[in-house]
Amino acid sequence: MEDFRKWAVRAAEWGVDYRERVRDLPVRPDVQPGEIAARIAAAPPEQAEAFEDVFADFERIIAPGMTNWQHPRFFAYFPANAAPPSVVAEYLVKAMAAVCMLWQTSPAATELETRMIDWLRQAFGLPEEFKGCIQDTASTATLAAVLVMRERALGFTGNTAGLFGAQRLRVYCSPEAHSSIDRAIWFSGIGADNLVRIPIKGPLRGADPDALRELIRADIAAGMKPAGIIGNVGATGVGATDPIGALAAIARDFNLYLHVDAAWAGTAMICPELRHLWAGIEGADSIVINPHKWLGAQQHCTAHFVRDPSTLTRTLAARPDYLHTLGQDEVVNYSEWGIPLGRQFRALKLWFLLRAYGLEALRAMIRNHIAWSRALCEKLRATPGFEIVTEPNYSLFSFRYRGKSSASPDDLNLALVEAINADGRIYLTQTRVDGAVAIRFQVGQFECTEADVMSAYDVITEIAARL
Ligand SMILES: *Cc1c(COP(=O)(O)O)cnc(C)c1O
Repeated sequence: MEDFRKWAVRAAEWGVDYRERVRDLPVRPDVQPGEIAARIAAAPPEQAEAFEDVFADFERIIAPGMTNWQHPRFFAYFPANAAPPSVVAEYLVKAMAAVCMLWQTSPAATELETRMIDWLRQAFGLPEEFKGCIQDTASTATLAAVLVMRERALGFTGNTAGLFGAQRLRVYCSPEAHSSIDRAIWFSGIGADNLVRIPIKGPLRGADPDALRELIRADIAAGMKPAGIIGNVGATGVGATDPIGALAAIARDFNLYLHVDAAWAGTAMICPELRHLWAGIEGADSIVINPHKWLGAQQHCTAHFVRDPSTLTRTLAARPDYLHTLGQDEVVNYSEWGIPLGRQFRALKLWFLLRAYGLEALRAMIRNHIAWSRALCEKLRATPGFEIVTEPNYSLFSFRYRGKSSASPDDLNLALVEAINADGRIYLTQTRVDGAVAIRFQVGQFECTEADVMSAYDVITEIAARL
């Protein structure tokens, strides 16, 4: 125990020091594939090693080989913010290491989870009938939602009879939807051929409701069974957002299940002035939002809201004898609401985060990020050689460099992203918009300042001029 104390304190202090100096590290490390593995012993030790050596190797080999997601100039993908209070909570959770599958195996974790989902529900302005739980990732929450969609459409016979001989199911989403939706469709047995893409229109690149109605009618006429719709609020590529109210109306008219993927942008809904972007959300059957992205709650914190939890438990709950809690059949057992049986205690980091900052400070952060993203977008728009491809959605826009080089625009922009990331001062990623490469820029890092965002302008223009 004395060793545990010593090293636990060392680890905690290392974490604080790391956060203090992360700003001065390259965002992406300058390493080649295989370089780190070559420095790690190929076989496990037969005898104990001094922990001093183990820790020293962590500092020497592992830490410098990591991409620094908590770096204030991380503008790639989406943020994975782990604000200090959530890190402290996670340390306590790891120390207790409880398995939170049943109420009985984790009473306080279960009851705090119920409360935290309701705090988030209020923070996002969702109506009271939404219940939910905290899943590990949006991917498994969406898989659970698609399984519910399937079972609901099959009259809850899919789990027993399988899909053999069943009517062919159809699910609808826009081409902007995240790859987790494709995978949920594969794993559910519905099959990628039955994931129908809704044409998109308008500056938000949202699904066209009239086109969706036609697709559904045509499928019904062809003898197929529409099961559900998946809507986007801030899709990953460029932040595409569907008209959720119109999708909800269609779901009602055709008795379909509506799942909304707001994994990243849902966090922005703590700001009431942004809620027009998901107007009609109260008509959704389920919603997924990742507080582990923009909000600051450390990875594996996905809020999965459902209007009717019984559809979820009817689809997912297995109740073998060894999981029964004698005399306690009324309690909530959250493992029945998701795919894995074992679950970590995920609510504590939210409780610490929300109490340590309060919603007003978190709203101020979101508003700053959106304003700074717009300011950078305007500066690039006014710079010769650059064009804005998609306008800022929330805090995400995309741009393209035209340059003087004779390289194809796609090659030139991929080369620019790689050169920027190898430089290490900032970190960006690319996407495709209507088939052509565009560079994404999102502002969302917890410690990011306006000066960090504006310094990205200097890095981008300086490196582009060298290409
Ligand atoms: C990040 C993201 C996901 C996947 O989230 P995980 O929690 O990593 O599974 C899904 N949808 C959207 C829109 C996302 O931004």
